Amino acid sequence: MRYSILSLARNALSGNRGWRPAWRAAEPRDGYDVVIIGGGGHGLATAFYLAKNHGLTRVAVLEKGWIGGGNVGRNTTIIRSNYGLPGNEPFYEWSMKLWEGLEQALNYNAMVSQRGVLNLYHSDAQRDGFARRGNAMRLHGVDSELLDREAVRRMAPFLNYDQARFPIQGGLLQARGGTARHDAVAWGYARGASDLGVDIIQNCEVVGFLRDGSGAVAGVETTRGAIRAGKIGMAVAGNTSRVAALAGVKLPIESHVLQAFVSEALKPVIPGVITFGAGHFYISQSDKGGLVFGGDIDGYNSYAQRGNLPVVEDVCEGGMAVMPMIGRARLLRSWGGVMDMSMDGSPIIDRTPVPGLYLNAGWCYGGFKATPASGWCFAHLLATDLPHATATAYRLDRFRTGHLIDEKGQGAQPNLH
Ligand code: FAD
Repeated sequence: MRYSILSLARNALSGNRGWRPAWRAAEPRDGYDVVIIGGGGHGLATAFYLAKNHGLTRVAVLEKGWIGGGNVGRNTTIIRSNYGLPGNEPFYEWSMKLWEGLEQALNYNAMVSQRGVLNLYHSDAQRDGFARRGNAMRLHGVDSELLDREAVRRMAPFLNYDQARFPIQGGLLQARGGTARHDAVAWGYARGASDLGVDIIQNCEVVGFLRDGSGAVAGVETTRGAIRAGKIGMAVAGNTSRVAALAGVKLPIESHVLQAFVSEALKPVIPGVITFGAGHFYISQSDKGGLVFGGDIDGYNSYAQRGNLPVVEDVCEGGMAVMPMIGRARLLRSWGGVMDMSMDGSPIIDRTPVPGLYLNAGWCYGGFKATPASGWCFAHLLATDLPHATATAYRLDRFRTGHLIDEKGQGAQPNLH
């Protein structure tokens, strides 16, 4: 349904009784061609592209809680494609291109805002590393610009340029990077998939797998009964090891908590996203005015969606070191999400050793920006049994063969998110 200003006013005065849900609340059917476990950004995008690109509409997304209750609604909304390795860069750039057309594709305002992502550097060695990364991006046709200290100062005069430990020397800018409204991305994909015939089933936890005589998966056991499926795609982020264990699959993934913070609303001050990787701190400002920031993961494994106080202190120290004025702002709230940390910092989009069971996982801190390409490529794999051209390196067996895509530096620490 589309709303005019008048109908918005009418709905506001009538307690929004005229508003209809954006997607159908579907009841589970007996069977589907494809079942996606996990109604986060990746699961919903996969369902949307299965229907849109491959004409597969006998598809269900099973979500144990509610749409947007996982990391897709908990992240700090940063999108970028500033990776350095050939296994990663084409995939993340493909995602960026999809972001650039997403609102038209979904006819939904996801507030995609390309206001720039700036990674600060503090030493000659770090500058050389950033120059190499920027050059690798350019070789892939992706925008990047190495800025000196004065250029950074013009963009962000409020930073602490002369701190003794990490004096700011400059930064690597990706001007096409920025932010998107995270929960709107989930809602937009959910509405788009539902309109194309996909069943989105909330409060439906997968608790086991059905197998046929050959050992292949034939469906799932859920809290709302058994559901048969030709193929099953797992997109459960921080819960990946738990769900995979139900099928007897052990994965090279650990679950860790990552926290984020938002301040009271302030006048516009921060031009884009700024990351201070050396101090484990990054920040942007939401359209409402809140300073949105975060830092490193909590130091222990957990499936809890909340974090501990030492990391709160660590993140705030990082903020004070690079941007002392943050000390004047009042913190409004903080929250946590559970990361599916892979051992090389790069994701997995592949089949599993169990026939019929497919895996989308290992997104670490950086899976929000990947949402459109992840859904596109996972749908391609599920529909054709072949990896998409930009995701061929995301094989599960690379942890056994040693063909790692070791890009923790860009994908995760220290240039967070
Ligand atoms: P989720 O939204 O977590 O979806 C997985 C879903 O699976 C959940 O809804 C869960 O309830 C469901 N599920 C789990 N088990 C079952 C089951 N048994 N049955 C049915 N359903 C199940 N990335 C960026 O690119 N940029 C950022 O700025 C950024 N910042 C972040 C900040 C924080 C604080 C956090 C927590 C994450 C951040 N990330 C960021 C990472 C990003 O949010 C994740 O990598 C990405 O959202 C994961 O994919 P998803 O959206 O599908 O996950």
